[in-house]
Order: sequence, then C-alpha cells, then structure tokens
Amino acid sequence: MNKALRKAIIAGNWKMNKTPAEAAALASSIKSLAAQRDCQVVLAVPFVDLAAVGEAIKDSGIYLGAQNCHWASNGAFTGEISPQMLVECGVSHVILGHSERRQYFGETDETVNRRLLAALEAGLHVILCVGEQLSQREQGITREICAMQVKIALGGVTREQMERVVIAYEPVWAIGTGKTATAAQADEVCGAIRQVVEELYDSSVAQALTIQYGGSMNAGNAQELLDQPNVDGGLIGGASLKGEDFAKIIAAASR
Ligand code: PEP
Repeated sequence: MNKALRKAIIAGNWKMNKTPAEAAALASSIKSLAAQRDCQVVLAVPFVDLAAVGEAIKDSGIYLGAQNCHWASNGAFTGEISPQMLVECGVSHVILGHSERRQYFGETDETVNRRLLAALEAGLHVILCVGEQLSQREQGITREICAMQVKIALGGVTREQMERVVIAYEPVWAIGTGKTATAAQADEVCGAIRQVVEELYDSSVAQALTIQYGGSMNAGNAQELLDQPNVDGGLIGGASLKGEDFAKIIAAASR
C-alpha cells in the first residue's frame, strides 16, 4: 500500500478557543467552504463546544473530535472527561498526548498509553501526538525520542485497534511558533515513525497507518508538506481557526 491508498486526514485542533456560539459559526463556515473535498476532516473542539459543533456539522461527513480524555470510564476525577462520555456526545476522534498536555498538564508517555487504551476500548479513533523538543533535535535524537513515545503509547494496542489510530508527528518547536519543519524533515520523521510501527506490528499495519504532520501548517505551506510520501495529513492549530485557511489546507489534501 502506498500513500495514495491511505486515508488523508486533516484535523483542526481548536485548543482553548471559541465559545459554543462562535464554534457553531466557525464549524458552519468550514462545512460550506469544504463541501467539495477528497479527504477526511476532523474538528477537535473544546468539550463545551461539542454539542454546538456536532449540530453544525450534522450530515456533512465532517468528524467531531475532542482534545483529550481520561482512562477511567467514571469516578472521582474532578475536571476530567471519560471516553464513554465523549462517545455519547457524538465524538468519533480524540487527540491524545498533545505537547501542550505534556508540557503544561504533566502528561507522560505512560498516561498517554492509559488514555489511548481506554479511548480505543470505548470505540474512539485516536490521534496520537509525538514529537521532539528543539534541544532534542539539536542533539540529534529526534528519531529516538519519537520512537520511544510511539512505542510506549502503543503498548498493548492490538493490530485490529491500529485501524483506529492516527499518529501526528508534531515537532514541539514548530507548534504555534510559525516555524515549520521543512518538507524533508517532516517526511523523514514520519517515515521513521512508520518504520517503528512496522517493527511493532508488520508492514501492512505500517503502510495502512495515516501519519499527519503538525506544527505551523498553514494555507501557504500545506501543499508541499502534504505532497511528501510519508505525510498523509495534517493536525492544524492556529490555521484551523480561520475557515478560509483551513479550507485551503483541506483542498491541498484533496488533490
Ligand atoms: C497543534 O496544536 O497541534 C498545532 C500544530 O498548532 P499550530 O498549527 O498552531 O502550530
């Protein structure tokens, strides 16, 4: 299987932006701007926006996503949300292990693994984020860092469950900074991640896996990044909050 046969997925990570009313307006505009497309689209929105966005994208084929979930199905975990709660809200995809969760909220590879297993068990699709910090790239250990994050996060995940896993390679130094990895850098690390998945499973699982690039992807640089053989889509933060820019990225992935 080659890139042409993998699912191209463009996911917008809205982070902590948009009230429910603002979110509904943005989702409606994306729905109409991206009505013609040939890729999957996911909107990963704040928990409080799920109902409004779910309503706005009804019957559009756009998938509703969340930005995190807990590993327990219920219990004394104040402030947390379980995978089962997300499913009942119409969520199909959840981002896990985003670098902002790792940096600001103490997320570790082990907790990412627990969340990921629980999300898959509940039937969700997972967008697993991995990526190196600038100092790690400068030390020449990008591949090792990403391999370790992937291996720990995927511990206990079955071959069948891998059909519902997407990996997003997001160099931490490129997220929200305006600094994008070059197309060659993005392709190299996405290829290395595919190799790790092949070692963990086999070539057919690795070749079927959608691997996204994320980190200051925008309407201007998306095409070159998405044209790389190992880059199957994008996880987009800032540019996903501007309907027209996000629609241009969707168009780039649809060519
Ligand atoms: C992200 O939040 O995953 C991201 C890639 O953000 P940005 O596109 O703003 O760099």
